[in-house]
Amino acid sequence: RQLSSKEIFALEDKYGCRNYAPLTVALSRGEGPFVWDVEGKKYFDFLSAYSAVNQGHCHPRIVAALKKQADVLTLVSRAFYSDKLGEYEQFMTNVFGFDRLLPMNTGVEGGESACKIARKWGYDVKKIPENQAKIIFARGNFWGRTMSAVSSSTDPDCYTGFGPFLPGLALVPYNDLQALEKELQDPNVAAFMVEPIQGEAGVIIPDDGYLKKVRELCTKYNVLWIADEVQTGLGRTGKLLAVEHEGVKPDILILGKALSGGIMPVSAVLANNNVMDVIKPGTHGSTYGGNPLACAVATEAIKVLLEEKLIENAAKLESVFREELEKIPKHMITAIRGRGLMFAIDVHDSIPAYGVCQKLKEAGLLAKTTHGQTIRLAPPLVITEQQLRDGARVIQNVFQSY
Ligand code: PLP
Repeated sequence: RQLSSKEIFALEDKYGCRNYAPLTVALSRGEGPFVWDVEGKKYFDFLSAYSAVNQGHCHPRIVAALKKQADVLTLVSRAFYSDKLGEYEQFMTNVFGFDRLLPMNTGVEGGESACKIARKWGYDVKKIPENQAKIIFARGNFWGRTMSAVSSSTDPDCYTGFGPFLPGLALVPYNDLQALEKELQDPNVAAFMVEPIQGEAGVIIPDDGYLKKVRELCTKYNVLWIADEVQTGLGRTGKLLAVEHEGVKPDILILGKALSGGIMPVSAVLANNNVMDVIKPGTHGSTYGGNPLACAVATEAIKVLLEEKLIENAAKLESVFREELEKIPKHMITAIRGRGLMFAIDVHDSIPAYGVCQKLKEAGLLAKTTHGQTIRLAPPLVITEQQLRDGARVIQNVFQSY
């Protein structure tokens, strides 16, 4: 028997840890940019699982790759070689232009791994005195929920009640090069970790030239630049990587989310030899990291992104989406920010943004607020122009109902 939506909400409420407050919709099917709830109602998915489902729900090619690999071998751990990992690493390093790849599972593990690599590089290569290495983060960052991630967070919801925090962290305002340069002068700084566009903070896009200057400053002060592209990467902003908008390359790149097209947790850290080689056997790892199933799925997910021209689609649809969102009455939204298909709107204080999301759901479109009055809008990159305009119409109608 298919449970009803209400029964599903009640089960999670009774038996689950209440670490989320989901919108009241219970989904049981997805295809491309659409999802269906257990009662059969169809919705536009304008969240894309926080940009993990860039390739659309249940992409047939990625699902086929999953099934094919699941039939033969899924996990060996890194105690042994598999016939999939090396090929996957070769493919990924070719596509992204780095020497080496470290396979992990979730985005936050990618971030943790990047920080560990940076610290080790700080001691082994930069010769920072023992236990003095420092990593700089930008205020408003979000990179997950582990102890290190909450230690670097400036969001009280994320860190309150979880201390004591990891030492060796510094914070600078996002998009503030002067503050960054001041911190970089400390010779114990190993790395600056930053999102090219801050996602959870509300799609905060830095000034043109920021990333280029971050690259220059990190090079000048012999500090590793870690780009967290877990959310911005893989076509979301209309380029394969968001750093490409400024033609720059980080020392360490973190990928996750859409690396598997929403099929399973797969993340990766990429770097060149001079950085990655500080990690020696026994110093870092993960039971599932680099498993054959993940390698097969991620390879296909990246091929789909490239071969189906989803990156070009995201780039092309940016102006369409902006044009449609600008039709929302000006007194109702105070800002529209977006690049590619990564958008956010700031809703005027007189209208409760959470209520807007509820109404959007009723009208057949799923989106979620981030930080109070901001609604993030990020449909799967497989969406067509017509579908995007249809989805935007739903948003316009909901605003018109106020
Ligand atoms: N980094 C960024 C920029 C993110 O947006 C997120 C998740 O939203 C993460 C890291 C953490 O990824 P995960 O939830 O897979 O651990």
